[in-house]
Amino acid sequence: MITGIDMARLPLDLPLRCRCGRVRGVASDVSPSSGLRFVCYCKDCQAFARFLERPDVLDSAGGTDIFQMPLGRVKLTAGTDAVRCLRLSDKGVLRWYSDCCQTPIGNTAASPHFPVIAVVHSFMVHEADGRSREEVLGPPLCRITVQSIRLVTMRPSQAPSGGYSGVKASAYGCATWM
Ligand SMILES: [Zn+2]
Ligand SMILES: [Zn+2]
Repeated sequence: MITGIDMARLPLDLPLRCRCGRVRGVASDVSPSSGLRFVCYCKDCQAFARFLERPDVLDSAGGTDIFQMPLGRVKLTAGTDAVRCLRLSDKGVLRWYSDCCQTPIGNTAASPHFPVIAVVHSFMVHEADGRSREEVLGPPLCRITVQSIRLVTMRPSQAPSGGYSGVKASAYGCATWM
């Protein structure tokens, strides 16, 4: 009999899918320690949802629930021809979405020096194995309200470990710890 293993903390290969199912993929080794979950309230994220006419993506306070993880662990397996990208400002992140059904996919830094992707919750499928978003990703670690902060600053005790530790910066900043 195996005891002492916390199943809820084990990494998971999480299915990714746009609303209509044309664009699909998988995020590998997803766990609370393999990435950074946060809620972003910046104007650009809200503008992105407006542009896509998907106000349902935002929470009641206008926040976008995001999981930032290494880009190399996210693979698209179908529908890549329907994937589009836009940028809301010269220095802004690249915002990816599906053209088939206007589903926000995720954001990446414009610079290849930051190989991370901030996957928007609307592209992650949590129904598959019965575990909640909280169980798979952990609770949001911070709220982002300031657009101009460019480096992720983490309390040492909350810094994700494992594969994520090599990533020291991103296009996001954490302004308010939860
Ligand atoms: Zn679609
Ligand atoms: Zn934002």
